[in-house]
Amino acid sequence: MGTLSRWRRWWTALLFALVVSGRSIAAPVEAAAIPVVVTIHPLSSIVKAVGGPLVRVETLLPPGASPHTFEPRPAHVRAVAEAQLVVAVGAGLDDWVLAIARSAKDAGILLASEHVIAAGMGRAFDDHEHDDTHGHSHGDIDPHVWLDPMVVKEAIAPAIAEALIQALPEHRRTIESHLQRFQQELDQLDAWIRERLASVGTGAFISYHAAWGYFADRYGLEHAASVAGFPGQEPSARWIAQVVQLARERGIKVVFAEPQLSPKAAETIAREIQGQVLLLDPLGGHGLAGRENYIDLMRYNTEMLVQAFALTQ
Ligand SMILES: [Zn+2]
Repeated sequence: MGTLSRWRRWWTALLFALVVSGRSIAAPVEAAAIPVVVTIHPLSSIVKAVGGPLVRVETLLPPGASPHTFEPRPAHVRAVAEAQLVVAVGAGLDDWVLAIARSAKDAGILLASEHVIAAGMGRAFDDHEHDDTHGHSHGDIDPHVWLDPMVVKEAIAPAIAEALIQALPEHRRTIESHLQRFQQELDQLDAWIRERLASVGTGAFISYHAAWGYFADRYGLEHAASVAGFPGQEPSARWIAQVVQLARERGIKVVFAEPQLSPKAAETIAREIQGQVLLLDPLGGHGLAGRENYIDLMRYNTEMLVQAFALTQ
């Protein structure tokens, strides 16, 4: 653990002590719920699973927005300034929050990817995943850490639990029991995903952007290509032609789009291979039925992949 992170914990604990001492007279338990701000929706679901009624979570990224193209507004800066804990992905995905959080000195920051790397579960982008994804190059850490349920179970959720215990030490047992229950749910999810994928035989797939490497590694899938090398920008005609050729060679009949990014290029490729476009959703969002909580979101994505593999020739 770095000095900075210790400092942040100390600062969080001190702040909490100040807040509590100012409010402690006959304050109901709910008053202790700490304000947590997260960047992307899946982190909100994970923080709520671990914190339960002890946290009040606000998500910065609105449904339908991509963290790769997002620009924070003054309301987001205010939310971060009022937060006691900020949970972000890091590794280049949501760097915009770091700039805001630096100006809001009260907030402790938890970067999920740092804990994933510390747990030895980080992965680097491969060459075939298109080198300039996210403006990163080959060998950089893939930031899409939350899309592997076992990474959430073993690295992200425990780190969030630890940060919440630092802020609310008197609720340690409650937080630990929430964590345990959530970890059991993640084990069940993992078993269910394996069973669903086994029912069709695993295969190669073409994602919209290179978000699915952790998932593919975990479940033995082949992430064959990404439609968009740089989220938010339309791919070149040359790149599209290469993906079309690859799809033909592999008998792939489904091209994935994502709700947060334009489906145009995916539709072009699907037309070329006489295939279809399905959605993979790395984020989900508040109010999106069936994709609101993390477990449901991962079930949704698994079913989409199962449909795609069933169509692969
Ligand atoms: Zn991404």
